[in-house]
Amino acid sequence: MLEIKWGETCLLPIRKLLSGSAKEAKFILLANPNNPTGTFVPISDIESLVAQSDRLIVLDEACVDFAPDSALRLIDRYSNLLILRTFSKSYAAAGIRVGFGFGHPEVIGRLRNMQNMFNMNVIGHAVGVSILAHRAAYAENHKHIKYERVRVNFALSQLGFSVTPSHTNFLLVRVPSGRDGTWWQTCLQRKKVLVAVPPDEGLEDCIRVSIGTKPQMDAFLAAVEEILEAETSRRSAV
Ligand SMILES: *Cc1c(COP(=O)(O)O)cnc(C)c1O
Repeated sequence: MLEIKWGETCLLPIRKLLSGSAKEAKFILLANPNNPTGTFVPISDIESLVAQSDRLIVLDEACVDFAPDSALRLIDRYSNLLILRTFSKSYAAAGIRVGFGFGHPEVIGRLRNMQNMFNMNVIGHAVGVSILAHRAAYAENHKHIKYERVRVNFALSQLGFSVTPSHTNFLLVRVPSGRDGTWWQTCLQRKKVLVAVPPDEGLEDCIRVSIGTKPQMDAFLAAVEEILEAETSRRSAV
């Protein structure tokens, strides 16, 4: 079950990850930033875990381009760290189903042994290489998303929602009490706005809102206000 301390800095439970069942695990898979919470743990925490663990730490950095830091600088120093990235988020190319990774030569060497069985196709490979060559062109979009998520976070907070400080391209939003995430999802869908309800236990009163263009986010906020107004008048009519 996910434990979220709303509005607080998120720290990695390092001691838990070094003992108990984690000690027997073949590898430890962590997402930083995390999905669906949008939270980010300091790289010093990641380093502390990697340095103390004798397990392979697989670090999913799918959303890292929206975060303040990355663990890439640790790669040369630790042979038990594998970092995974994807073109699905910050490069807006989920359809090619291609990702990439960074690891110590020892880890990469072991992956190479089985690469032929699970390799990507040449078209996906070519598109990925081309995207990386033009990655500077995405910086403006990343800046827009970081700006917009702050604006939407503030607007939602004013309307009575709790929002985790996000380091990703989405916001995890706890809806005001009285209705759950699925109710909000249905109401928003009627207004042609699609949001996700995280399937995780403990997040039933949450929706996950992806950050889009400014007009899209304005439409989302307008829909939220309309729903809130309808709720208020319904309640006062009862
Ligand atoms: C979106 C996301 C993924 C999915 O990546 P794909 O390359 O599209 O499979 C994986 N991990 C995290 C943390 C994500 O947010």
